[in-house]
Amino acid sequence: MSDTLQSLAAIVGPKGFIPEAEARDWKAGPWPGLNTRAARAVLRPASTQEVSAILKVCHEKGQRVVPAGGLTGLVHGTDSAADEIVLSLERMNHILEIDPTGRTMTVEAGVPLQTIQEAADQAGMFFPLDLGARGSATIGGNIATNAGGNRVIRYGMTRELILGLEAVLADGTVLSHLNTLLKNNAGFDLKQLFIGTEGSLGVVTRAVLRLFEKPRSQTAALVAASDFEGVTRLLKHMDQALGGQLTAFEVMWSDVYEVFTTPPANNRPPLPHGHAFYVLVESMGGDPEADAARFEKGLDGALAQGMIADAALAASLDQVHKFWAIRDDVVQFIRYGSFITFDVSLPIRAMETYVAEVKARMAERFPGSVMGTFGHLGDCNLHFVACPRTEDPAARASVEAIVYAPLAAIKGSVSAEHGIGLEKKAYLPLSRTPEEIATMQRLKSALDPKGILNRGKVIDMAAAESLY
Ligand SMILES: Cc1cc2nc3c(=O)[nH]c(=O)nc-3n(C[C@H](O)[C@H](O)[C@H](O)COP(=O)(O)OP(=O)(O)OC[C@H]3O[C@@H](n4cnc5c(N)ncnc54)[C@H](O)[C@@H]3O)c2cc1C
Repeated sequence: MSDTLQSLAAIVGPKGFIPEAEARDWKAGPWPGLNTRAARAVLRPASTQEVSAILKVCHEKGQRVVPAGGLTGLVHGTDSAADEIVLSLERMNHILEIDPTGRTMTVEAGVPLQTIQEAADQAGMFFPLDLGARGSATIGGNIATNAGGNRVIRYGMTRELILGLEAVLADGTVLSHLNTLLKNNAGFDLKQLFIGTEGSLGVVTRAVLRLFEKPRSQTAALVAASDFEGVTRLLKHMDQALGGQLTAFEVMWSDVYEVFTTPPANNRPPLPHGHAFYVLVESMGGDPEADAARFEKGLDGALAQGMIADAALAASLDQVHKFWAIRDDVVQFIRYGSFITFDVSLPIRAMETYVAEVKARMAERFPGSVMGTFGHLGDCNLHFVACPRTEDPAARASVEAIVYAPLAAIKGSVSAEHGIGLEKKAYLPLSRTPEEIATMQRLKSALDPKGILNRGKVIDMAAAESLY
């Protein structure tokens, strides 16, 4: 073992050190192929002090480090090379404090999101961040990716849910600001450097989360609309009718709804096939009876005004979960062979034309291809599941160009919520100006002058070139 590895092994002890030979099999992410892992070792520190000591050694030796949470990221942000070290936060998995009066929870970075949700619930509180990978994704990974998920329309992205943060810089310096105050304008808000920067500026070790009062009602309906205008009118109508209680507005184009509700999918269609759009609308509030009445009145109004053609109101919480199970069943696209998922953002008013253009170009370039569309429409966020149905290795680049190229002109974003990682790095100039990318490079140089943290992810240190 090299001197560097010996020093690192001594910091974490036998429980925290996984040698090169076992690194590849250490832990699989949920989606095969996302975490191609060759590494000199996996380090599993148990404290901020250990993370700091590790990074101090790595900084001195120029040893590259890849921070890792639950490995559910979808943009190859945790891929590692044979000369890199993986720094896993999985042993830093403790909830440190819950304060129902101050409405905060203080946690270590390796706590899984679902554990946090459940702990908040047991304390009579609510942590609103929610996404399909909740069982494996860690709060450190959620912070590093500024995860979005299902309730952004009401509670915002992860950034809005973080009050305080502790992170360790590349040279081992600990920046600890475990602020619990909702208002704190004392100086620069340094935590923002580590939220959504995908582990390239520092390693998140602890965080103070913002909790909310637990909603006492959860009401949902699946509705069908015959045109996109009806969908956008419905969004404004329900938001107004629910008086701030709208928690989700998830739209499925008919192609997606049919795949998610046709065998071999497990779920049956609550509304018949044949409509152009299906929308899962959800609200949460504090008065079950009044909330249900308000929700129903809103839906009746939408039907009366012709925004929607049909509606299925969830009769129980179990049915609410069934609607969500339909919406989350992306893996059903495997029936068309390998697929590529996309996560883009664009103004709602540009969506209909953009989707039609992307689908037309896909059909022209890949006859017989399948292109499913769905998304958190209220958040301006669309997902595509693209199945080009060809073994051609160049297909991926062609599909990416079809999806990403139109975004620059309509001021869209190549990443709404999954981040950039390795997968979208080449497309970043479509969404950010050269000056913005140059500023990101300056920040990276200032905080990680030797470029040891997640090197080559998000941005390159060489000047970025324009793509199109
Ligand atoms: C089925 C499924 C559904 C999903 N749904 C959504 C969704 O609705 N919305 C959404 O936003 N995402 C979604 N994702 C993507 C993913 O779950 C999120 O990006 C999540 O936040 C990643 O957390 P993680 O702990 O798995 O991070 P990882 O995958 O381990 O890491 C992600 C990135 O963060 C860095 N990182 C991890 N931990 C730290 C740390 N402590 N300090 C610094 N950097 C760190 C890594 O280096 C990497 O760049 C989904 C994924 C799956 C598989």
